[in-house]
Amino acid sequence: MFKLKTHKLFSLNPVIRTKKFSSIASASSIQDNDQSNQFHNQIQETQSLAPRFYLFALTNCKNIKQFKPIHTHLTVNGFFNDMVLVNKLLYVYVRYNLMEDAYKLFDEMPERNAASWSVMIGGFAKAGYYIKCYEMFREYIRSGEQPDVYTLPCVIRVCRDRVDLVMGRLVHQIVYKFGLSTNAFICAALVDMYAKCGVIDDARKLFDNMVIKDLTTWTVMFGAYTACGNASESLVLFDKMLESGLVPDKICLVTIVNACAKLGAMNKAEVVDDIIQKQYSSLDVILGTAMIDMYAKCGSIDSARKIFDRMREKNVITWSTMIAAYGYHGHGQKALELLPLMSKNRVTPNRITFVSLLNACSHSCLVEEGRRVFSLMQEKYFIKPDVKHYTCMVDLLGRAGKLNEAFNMIENMKVEKDVGLWSALLAACRIYKNVEMAQKAAESLLEIEPDDPSHYVMLSNIYAKEGKWENMAKLRTQMTSKSLKKTPGFTWVEAQNGVHKFCSGDHTHSESKAIYEKLESLIEKLRVSGYVPDTEFVLHDVNEDVKLGSLYAHSEKLAIAYGLISTPEGTVIRLTKNLRVCGDCHTFMKYVSVVEKREIVVRDAKRFHHVRDGVCSCGDYW
Ligand code: ZN
Ligand code: ZN
Repeated sequence: MFKLKTHKLFSLNPVIRTKKFSSIASASSIQDNDQSNQFHNQIQETQSLAPRFYLFALTNCKNIKQFKPIHTHLTVNGFFNDMVLVNKLLYVYVRYNLMEDAYKLFDEMPERNAASWSVMIGGFAKAGYYIKCYEMFREYIRSGEQPDVYTLPCVIRVCRDRVDLVMGRLVHQIVYKFGLSTNAFICAALVDMYAKCGVIDDARKLFDNMVIKDLTTWTVMFGAYTACGNASESLVLFDKMLESGLVPDKICLVTIVNACAKLGAMNKAEVVDDIIQKQYSSLDVILGTAMIDMYAKCGSIDSARKIFDRMREKNVITWSTMIAAYGYHGHGQKALELLPLMSKNRVTPNRITFVSLLNACSHSCLVEEGRRVFSLMQEKYFIKPDVKHYTCMVDLLGRAGKLNEAFNMIENMKVEKDVGLWSALLAACRIYKNVEMAQKAAESLLEIEPDDPSHYVMLSNIYAKEGKWENMAKLRTQMTSKSLKKTPGFTWVEAQNGVHKFCSGDHTHSESKAIYEKLESLIEKLRVSGYVPDTEFVLHDVNEDVKLGSLYAHSEKLAIAYGLISTPEGTVIRLTKNLRVCGDCHTFMKYVSVVEKREIVVRDAKRFHHVRDGVCSCGDYW
C-alpha cells in the first residue's frame, strides 16, 4: 500500500502532499527496508515539509545515510527553533554513537532544554566517554537548569559503573539540593550506586527511607548484601518484601537463590523452592541452574539432582554446575557419568565443564580418570589446557602423593603460572610433609603475591610442623613489617531462628555463656571417647595450655556447640566456613557425630564434608 501511494503523493502540491503524507506516516509504521529507503530518497528531492513529517522521518531512520539529508533540510528550512525536532536530531546522532556530531549540533543549538542535556549526558555515558559525561553534567548544573529524573539516574549509573563514590556522593548532594531525594527513580539509582560502590550502610539508609520501593530496588539490596558477604541480611529483607505484598520475579528469585547458596541455608532454600514451585510450573534454565547450585551448596546433592532432572532445558552451565556439585561433594564417579550423558543431549562441554570434571576427579582421588579426562579434553574437544586445568591436575597428582610428577607438570607447562597453581602444590606438600618442595612453592607464591598473608601462614605452618621455629620467627617478622594479618576465620550455623555467625574466641553471641558451657562438657565427653586435641594446627609457638585454649575456641567448635543447644535432637547441623576446616575441628566433628548422634554437614572454602557416625565423606582428604 505504502509504496505506490508515496510515489503519487510526491507529485501533488506541497501543502496537500505534506498533510497526506504525515497522516499516512503516523497511521502506519515502516517495516520494510525497501519502503523505508524509497521513503527517505524522496526526502532528498522535496522542499520544506511540516515538522510532524520530519519527526516521523527521523524516528524511522534506518541508517545514517538517510539521516544526514534530514539534518540539512531542517537547517536550510529554518526548523532550528523547534525544540522537539532538534532534540530528536540530537537523539539520532547519539543513537548512532556519533557523539562528535551530536556535540557540534548541541553547541549550535540556539536554545536547550532539560531533554537536550539529558540526551547528551546519556549519550556520553552510553558511548563510554565518562569524563565528558561528568563535564556535561557539571555544565548543566551551572547553567541553572533543574536536573530531572532522566539526567540524574543516568549520571548516577555512570558513577555506579565506574565505582566512583566521590562523584556519586556529589550527585547525591545535588539531588538533595534540588529537593529530589524522595523521587523513587532517583533513589533507586542511588541505592544501586552505593551498593555497587560497596557502601552498603548508605544504600540501606536511603532504601529504608524510600516510601515506594519497586522490585528492582529490593533486588539490588538483596544482591548487594550477598556480594558484601552478608547474605543472611538479604534473606531477612526478602521476608520483609514478601510481607509488603510484592511478588518476586525471576531476576529477584535468582538473587535470593544465590543468597541461600552463599549461606548454605537449607531451611531457607526449601522455602524459596516452595515459592518458585507455586509461581512457575516449569523451571527456566537460569533459575533452575541457580537452584542446582543452591541445593548443592546447602549440602543436599540429592535435591540438586532432582532439580537437574526436572529441568527440560539445560545448557552447558547447567551441566557444569551439576558436575561441579558432584565434585565438591566427593562423588567423582557420578560427575564423570554426566559427561557422556551430556553429549547424548547434544550439549558440548566447554573449558569450565572440564575444570569441574578435573576437580571432581581430584576431590575423589581418581587419578587415572583425571588423566583420561585431561587428554580427552585436548584430543576430542580441542581445548588447550589453561592454568585452571593444570591446577586441577597438580591438585590431583599432589593429593595422590605424586609430588614429583606434579612439580614436573608445572615446570613444563607453557601457560603463565598463577597463585592457585602453586597453592595446590603447596597444599600437597603439606599433606606429604615435603618441606623442600613446599618451600619452593611458597616462595613462588610470595613472588606473585608478596602481600597476601595466607601464603605466609601456609609456609609458617610447614615450618611449625617441622619445628623450625627460627624460620618461622623470620617469616613472622616479615609479615609484621608488611603489617599483614591472617584472614579471620568465620563459621555460620543455621538454627531455627536464622543463621548465626561465629569467629574464633567469639563472646558476642547472646547465648555465649551457654555455648561455652556446652563446649566444655562436650570436650570432656569426647576425651572419654578418645578425642585427642591436635595442637599441630595452632600456629603460635606457645605452651600447650594456651594452644589448647585457642584450639577449643575455634569458630567451627562454637558453631557446633550452638547448633547442638539450639536445635532438636537428631537434627542435621549445617555449617559454612569461609576458610578450610582445620584438622582438629575435623576430628572433633567426627567424634561429635558419634557422641551426640548428629549428622554434621560442613561447607568450607574447598569442599563439602558430610560427617556421620564418625566418618567424613571426604575420607580425611581435603
Ligand atoms: Zn579448628
Ligand atoms: Zn571431611
